[in-house]
Amino acid sequence: MSQDYDAIVIGVGGMGSAALYQLAKRGLNVLGIEQFEIPHTLGSSHGLTRIIRLAYYEDRSYVPLLRRAYALWAEVEVEFGEQLFFQTGSIDMGPEDGEVFGGSLQSCLDNELAHEVLNSRELSERFPGYRMPAETMAVYQPQGGLLVPERCISAHAELAKANGATIHCGERVLGWEIQADERARVRTDAGSYVAEKLVVCGGAWAKKLIPRLAGLAVPERQVLIWLAPRRADWFQLERFPVWNGEVEEGRFYGLPEFNPGGTTPGVKLGRYHHLEEACDPDTVDRSVTTADEAMLWDFAERYFPEGAGRTLDMVVCMFTNTPDEHFVLDTLPGAPQVSVAAGFSGHGFKMASVIGEVMADLAQSGETRHDIALHRLSRFQTQHL
Ligand SMILES: Cc1cc2nc3c(=O)[nH]c(=O)nc-3n(C[C@H](O)[C@H](O)[C@H](O)COP(=O)(O)OP(=O)(O)OC[C@H]3O[C@@H](n4cnc5c(N)ncnc54)[C@H](O)[C@@H]3O)c2cc1C
Repeated sequence: MSQDYDAIVIGVGGMGSAALYQLAKRGLNVLGIEQFEIPHTLGSSHGLTRIIRLAYYEDRSYVPLLRRAYALWAEVEVEFGEQLFFQTGSIDMGPEDGEVFGGSLQSCLDNELAHEVLNSRELSERFPGYRMPAETMAVYQPQGGLLVPERCISAHAELAKANGATIHCGERVLGWEIQADERARVRTDAGSYVAEKLVVCGGAWAKKLIPRLAGLAVPERQVLIWLAPRRADWFQLERFPVWNGEVEEGRFYGLPEFNPGGTTPGVKLGRYHHLEEACDPDTVDRSVTTADEAMLWDFAERYFPEGAGRTLDMVVCMFTNTPDEHFVLDTLPGAPQVSVAAGFSGHGFKMASVIGEVMADLAQSGETRHDIALHRLSRFQTQHL
């Protein structure tokens, strides 16, 4: 026997939990279906911390979304009664003519964001953990900081339930279709459900749920490392802003020692696109290798020498990359009752709160007041769309 809902959200991770919360809060009868627990460590949203920053060089249209994301995170903190955002300031650094430094500075100027420009010496004097090459230039933006992703997902899921949502964990969606009556039917390993609207937030599994996303939402294996700092006082929240930097070895990011819920696992860092290994989320190698560790540790020893003590932990996570590294936020061509949030290309978590709002708008009306032109499917010239 099938059950009927106003909307079904497939995947209750970073984006799905936020969409579910927004839809439930608007009074819709919603079902969220998650194949694992909530939260879990097998997708893209685990690892204790995520960077949030306002100085976005990736495109001008991100800053209004980010302002709304900050406001919504603050609302969720109040409703949930727990701090989810921790302000550290953010550093975007690299060569003076590079995308990260130049683009972040331009973003600050365009959007009138508070900021300071620091050269390499000034950076180390102010924040002694950093030892960047002499030619490095940095933008310090004081509103940057970190989110605690597992707690953010729990907050959205709990608040969704408090607003009447039903959530099924440990249940895998096997497929969906549009029925003759235009409603969506979702088939799982436990049953079948019907809804007016379908919101697909499958993360690295996106193309398994929507095959036409193949080539547009490509999962990639990532590895995070936590190191025991040699000078612990230099790598705490108040002295070590979250950072994003371009060096000759690639683009890396990192965060201070931090875990509000328990023992600190050390200073965290990673390389964007790690070893550039496309993967399948069901078969990805979740063990870590000496090659994973060596690349990250060598980087830390060169640029954050007092942070590069012994390895405390490493975990595998997944990016889901689009060809241009902007997102996929849209209704499906030919199936306007189905909307999709996918392809967050390693930088989506900070915006999960506003993406929940965008997805609720798309599900309710097919439109949103937010500018998501950059993230529409129509930008891809593909025969499948
Ligand atoms: C190492 C790493 C570091 C990152 N750092 C940052 C950062 O600092 N700042 C930032 O903003 N972003 C960062 N990101 C990116 C960000 O974390 C992701 O973009 C975001 O978490 C993606 O959320 P999602 O909801 O798409 O995926 P997920 O949170 O993985 O959610 C997808 C969910 O769908 C479920 N699902 C899939 N298929 C099915 C099915 N058939 N049936 C039922 N359930 C299903 C999955 O189990 C999963 O729970 C990072 C990502 C990684 C991997």
